[in-house]
Amino acid sequence: MDSGESLDRIAEEVRTCPRCPLASTRTHAVPGEGNHLSDVLLVGEGPGAREDATGRPFVGPAGQLLDELLGAIGWERGHVFITNVVKCRPPGNRDPEPDEKAACAPYLDRQERALDAAVVVTLGRHSLQRYLPGARISAVHGQLRRSFSGQHVFPMYHPAAALHQASLRETLFRDVRALPAALLAAREALGAERLSLVAQRHEPAEAAPSVPMASADEQMTLFEERA
Ligand code: URA
Ligand code: SF4
Repeated sequence: MDSGESLDRIAEEVRTCPRCPLASTRTHAVPGEGNHLSDVLLVGEGPGAREDATGRPFVGPAGQLLDELLGAIGWERGHVFITNVVKCRPPGNRDPEPDEKAACAPYLDRQERALDAAVVVTLGRHSLQRYLPGARISAVHGQLRRSFSGQHVFPMYHPAAALHQASLRETLFRDVRALPAALLAAREALGAERLSLVAQRHEPAEAAPSVPMASADEQMTLFEERA
């Protein structure tokens, strides 16, 4: 991880942020939480009632389902970092307005840089829109994609959607089971790109050093050690 600034510092700023109208209706801003060394960043939409009351992300009914989803692949909240597109609750759980999302975006930009995760998991369409504008969730869910800026993105439906539409529950579990393999694929792609950059810098080079690619098992162990 190569973080110029810390996630704690960003969180401190978010907690007293006055930059959009949601500041005046929130109880607590919700900066996000989790493992500061994680290779996986989860991005939801915005805090709901429980999140606003506690200052923590995904602690209501949708959060309970999120915990179950992570549990299905042997992960816990403490293995990932969880945040939202907007850090303050839109009143009555309405959609965040474009100007609110724009005002809040620099915090998520900075969190991305501080964490430097290999994969961003988008939860719901506001999050998806940020990384893959124009993509339809029904077409891309459960598949590893790349954003225009090169980030590896793994889109998922929002867990809250499955609380209203039971058929999505199965889809969510099927998708999350594809996440560990997506993480490995993203790491391999990033590793290969870094090596090719090194090779270019040393031109005219002999053959680039062969890639000491770890096996899938070794890489997952690395994740657990970092987590
Ligand atoms: N829904 C979200 O999008 N984020 C939360 O933190 C909780 C519910
Ligand atoms: Fe600031 Fe974001 Fe909260 Fe708006 S939603 S007040 S920009 S932290």
